[in-house]
Amino acid sequence: MRPLFHPRLINSDFGDPILFIPFLLEKRAVLFDLGDIHSLSSRDILKITHVFITHTHIDHFCGFDRLLRLFLGRDKIVYMYGPAGFLKNVEGKLAAYSWNLVDNFSNQFGFYLTEVHSKHLITNLYLCRDKFRPARPAEVKPFNSTLYEEPALSISTVVLDHSIPCLGFSIKEQFHVNIKKDALDSLGLETGPWLHEFKQALFNHRLPDSAFEIKSKKGISGKKKFILGDLAKQIAVITPGQKITYIADVVYNELNAEKIINFSKDSDHLFIEAAFLDKHKNIARTKNHLTARQAGTIAAMAGVKQFTVFHFSPRYAGQANLLHEEAHEAYGTGATS
Ligand SMILES: [Zn+2]
Ligand SMILES: [Zn+2]
Repeated sequence: MRPLFHPRLINSDFGDPILFIPFLLEKRAVLFDLGDIHSLSSRDILKITHVFITHTHIDHFCGFDRLLRLFLGRDKIVYMYGPAGFLKNVEGKLAAYSWNLVDNFSNQFGFYLTEVHSKHLITNLYLCRDKFRPARPAEVKPFNSTLYEEPALSISTVVLDHSIPCLGFSIKEQFHVNIKKDALDSLGLETGPWLHEFKQALFNHRLPDSAFEIKSKKGISGKKKFILGDLAKQIAVITPGQKITYIADVVYNELNAEKIINFSKDSDHLFIEAAFLDKHKNIARTKNHLTARQAGTIAAMAGVKQFTVFHFSPRYAGQANLLHEEAHEAYGTGATS
């Protein structure tokens, strides 16, 4: 089975934390955190449609300028989400430049920003041609943990404590549709854009007895008609969807740990910060970070299938293995912290 999401941390264990998640066979990606993104190619950056920022400490947000620089002059709205104060943070970034020449731009580049509070969201649109001034008074909407949703997937958040509000994020596929190539061959069907329509029909819960037509490739006339449910039985294997969770910069306390465990429950892959070793847990507490042992314990208690620790303190340069080992030992033994 080829998964839909292909998450990868783009920097080293000691670099700025950024999780890049491209989608299989689609020219799009989402980003969790936006520190130094120079190790990401321009081609990959231009695939990004949605950016989710845990908090605006500089190591999580300093890549904003590179992203803005690459997208300027393009027809695109980039959707960005961040914690309390986020609109002011981005407005401050945008106010740092002179925009007197953008009146002549014919493109529609802009940011659609969402600021996350525990019970509501604040949103606004900032278009380049308006010199990035907010399009209207900010809108306030009720909020129930889902930030973004489309038929195939959703992205949700939880507000955590890092001495300031800090967001955790999960991306979840509704279910996974795997196409059986040999079944296509035996039905005389070729792959093509119709497969995307077919999957969308399933994600949109179209009635199984509805008709589904497959247009032949150009040059060959005719259409093949199927009943959606029959076709699905023949060519598709449907399995539970993937869940990827990202937690960066949180202090260890009972409430935070409980929230993270519930939020990341049964993730296929949990990415979780682990700045310090357990022998330095007092420093971790003062700096509002986790230890590797605490991260591994949380991963075990959440029942995640796989997890990766990252965002190590520079004091462990050359000793990254110690943090990986401590985390995996805690995960293996289900140690309590
Ligand atoms: Zn950080
Ligand atoms: Zn931080």
